[in-house]
Amino acid sequence: MNTHVIPPQPDFRDTLPTADASGGRRWLYPRGITGRLTQWREAVAVVLLIALLAGPFVWVDGHPLFLFNVLERRFIFFGVPFWPQDFYLVAFGLVTFVVFITLFTVVYGRVFCGWACPQTIFMEMVFRKIEVWIEGDYTARQRLDAAPWTTGKMAKKGLKHGVFLLISFAISNTFLAYIIGRDAWLTLVTDNPAGHVGGLATMLVFTGIFYLVFARLREIVCNTICPYGRLQGVLLDKNSLVVAYDYIRGEP
Ligand code: SF4
Repeated sequence: MNTHVIPPQPDFRDTLPTADASGGRRWLYPRGITGRLTQWREAVAVVLLIALLAGPFVWVDGHPLFLFNVLERRFIFFGVPFWPQDFYLVAFGLVTFVVFITLFTVVYGRVFCGWACPQTIFMEMVFRKIEVWIEGDYTARQRLDAAPWTTGKMAKKGLKHGVFLLISFAISNTFLAYIIGRDAWLTLVTDNPAGHVGGLATMLVFTGIFYLVFARLREIVCNTICPYGRLQGVLLDKNSLVVAYDYIRGEP
């Protein structure tokens, strides 16, 4: 039996695999994965995407299912309205949620990140699939990025970023509908634009942010920006369920 074990690299915990030696970004070309669990992830992602996109437009008992109107301090969770005087309930719910997510992460690791986080779902199940559809698998994408600018390359990149912008625009509209509500959003997109310059500008700013996140930032959101991602560094231990290379075991 081969008992050779790869010794832990001295600095593997101190360096980001997504950065080169000088700290510059190393662009990732993830290989497509297939299999039963991926099929389950895709099925869960479809259900969550439908729920996420439908959230502000589905009404129950005269209320939207969800509303997070921070401007007018009106909040609706699962069709139940919460007013500012009810906020102690929200605070209580948030504390419960934080305790739950902490314990859940200690035991089950990054299950939420891989299966339910909107960042992952949109990135891997929407934007990445479009990228693969237009530019090809990971080797074709590497070749395309390294190739000189030709008409074909410009057409592919233009098409990809055009579709990315359209989807970012759709996400921005949904996001806005969560904040201002379905009816106000409908007025915003159907009324004379001159009367809604602020609202439309906000919509464009959100479109730009979502485009930036999914076209450029990508994994940087997880390893640098997301507070939950940062917290995981202290929540996970060797008994947590994590998909990662096992340096202690090495190669069998
Ligand atoms: S680290 Fe944050 S943004 Fe990234 S997948 Fe997890 S929850 Fe989502």
